[in-house]
Amino acid sequence: MRIGIDLGGTKIEGIALANDGRELARQRLATPRHDYDATLRTIAELVARLERETGEMGTVGVGMPGTLSPATGLVKNANSTWLNGRAFDRDLAALVGREVRCANDANCFTLSEATDGAAKNAAVVFGVIVGTGTGGGIVVHGRVLTGPNAIAGEWGHVPLPWPRDEERPGPACYCGKNGCVETYLSGPGLTRDYHAATGTEIDAAGIAARAAGGDAQAEAALERYEDRMARALATVLNVLDPDVVVLGGGMSRLVRLYDSVPRLWQEWAFSDRVTTPLRPPAHGDASGVRGAAWLWGGDE
Ligand SMILES: [Zn+2]
Repeated sequence: MRIGIDLGGTKIEGIALANDGRELARQRLATPRHDYDATLRTIAELVARLERETGEMGTVGVGMPGTLSPATGLVKNANSTWLNGRAFDRDLAALVGREVRCANDANCFTLSEATDGAAKNAAVVFGVIVGTGTGGGIVVHGRVLTGPNAIAGEWGHVPLPWPRDEERPGPACYCGKNGCVETYLSGPGLTRDYHAATGTEIDAAGIAARAAGGDAQAEAALERYEDRMARALATVLNVLDPDVVVLGGGMSRLVRLYDSVPRLWQEWAFSDRVTTPLRPPAHGDASGVRGAAWLWGGDE
């Protein structure tokens, strides 16, 4: 049995998967924000509950914000900042009495979709999370590509390519740079763009609803969003040329993207024709926690 934990900013979700990927049990608890020790204890409690419910002991994989720095062994880049600088994997392993595998949440999402989801059987998969932030992960032949700096796939913090005049220098990003892809393609990025054009602040779902209702300004904001996503993903195609690109996160519910973006990226990718499919996630919001479980592959 495999246990997966998805450590989010507001909730921690746990799942127990049978070897064939069937869901055996699922539990959820609130994240004790800004309390590292309580966060560890909550995860251990979820593991204990899942094992009580199934009557089995499992491997434990955790999808987390940020990543473990190969240089220090400590968490870095987590927007749940109370994790940063901590030996999260070792501390948790001590608490649950076994080795724990941890990976960035976007990597877990991609692993889930590559294992038994929208990109099943694809050799090279690029997974994108466009939600509160913008993240990405790469899975090659069923394995997460981490890289020596543990930043493989982090396309959210590259600058928006082929910027138009009004996109320079671009919005300030929390990483310290300007014009990062995340500042445009996250949900808040779309909200900011619409606000700049109209003076009205509404969330991404609200903008999509207005566009569907014939609002010209909302439609224009979505067209800018699609154009930017196409440019940003074209650079991924140029560098990685994945077999499948899978979208996840809140913005992945915008169905029109699956048609518009592949039409638009033709213009930017360095190829006579682009045949790469852009797909919605098969497991939806459960992909992060399922991918965490799959961090323990079939080889152990
Ligand atoms: Zn950035």
